Amino acid sequence: MPELPEVEIVRRGLRRHLLGRVVDSVELLHPRAVRRHAAGADDFAAALAGRRIDGALRRGKYLWLPVGEDALLAHLGMSGQLLIGDPDRPVSPHVRARFAFRDGGPDLRFTDQRTFGHLSFAPGGAVLPAAIAHIAPDPLEPAFDLAALTARLAARRTGIKRALLDQSLVSGVGNIYADEALWRVRLHWARAADGLRRGDVARLITAVQEVFTEALDAGGTSFDSLYVNVNGQSGYFERSLAVYGRAGQPCRRCGSPVRREAFMNRSAFSCPKCQPRPRRGRW
Ligand SMILES: [Zn+2]
Repeated sequence: MPELPEVEIVRRGLRRHLLGRVVDSVELLHPRAVRRHAAGADDFAAALAGRRIDGALRRGKYLWLPVGEDALLAHLGMSGQLLIGDPDRPVSPHVRARFAFRDGGPDLRFTDQRTFGHLSFAPGGAVLPAAIAHIAPDPLEPAFDLAALTARLAARRTGIKRALLDQSLVSGVGNIYADEALWRVRLHWARAADGLRRGDVARLITAVQEVFTEALDAGGTSFDSLYVNVNGQSGYFERSLAVYGRAGQPCRRCGSPVRREAFMNRSAFSCPKCQPRPRRGRW
């Protein structure tokens, strides 16, 4: 699953390549890509033809391209890619939707091997599409409110990692960057969210912001070559990961072998020495 840095890298590429360009036509090669668009594929295509792309915005892992007062909303799911390139290049079998532009320049293709991603047209959604209004601001947004998050965490009877992954509390944080941020501040993932001190929460969020920023500088993290920028290139932050995906390898701080534990049908990676398991943790 791409996380905030990978999606932000895509957003920057979309803005750089699409700003001010007018959509000529939209071709849907797989209707599943627009399954969230209730009025159907033809309506989706008609709503976007002739519209000018006014920007590229993001909240958490959602992206949207404002077109006048409306927007094209996208979620990459597990394996979605938004790729820009020569309109005459071959169409790969995983291309779900293709946007051609009036200027005849590079086109935009939504490819999605596992088809969990989706596109929709959001009427009146230029500022913030209604479908994602419930998603909390992410830690890199100016609207992010640390005091509000601290207060909400203090009321959560759950483990801190689970709370970090809850997109209604704070958006954009997934498995990889949650583990990395928790390692940086020496907190075990099962620590009770409502038992953390205010200073712990502030340090943890600062760590999330730092790890996001470092990942952005590295072009994101790529595990299976699916997370790529709009030009199809992957980042190299996985080389800098401290614990995620490093079970049995030495902790970069103390040398203890990194521990892998089952967590919500996935894994949590931590250092047994730097991040001692709480006596009464929460999952
Ligand atoms: Zn350690």
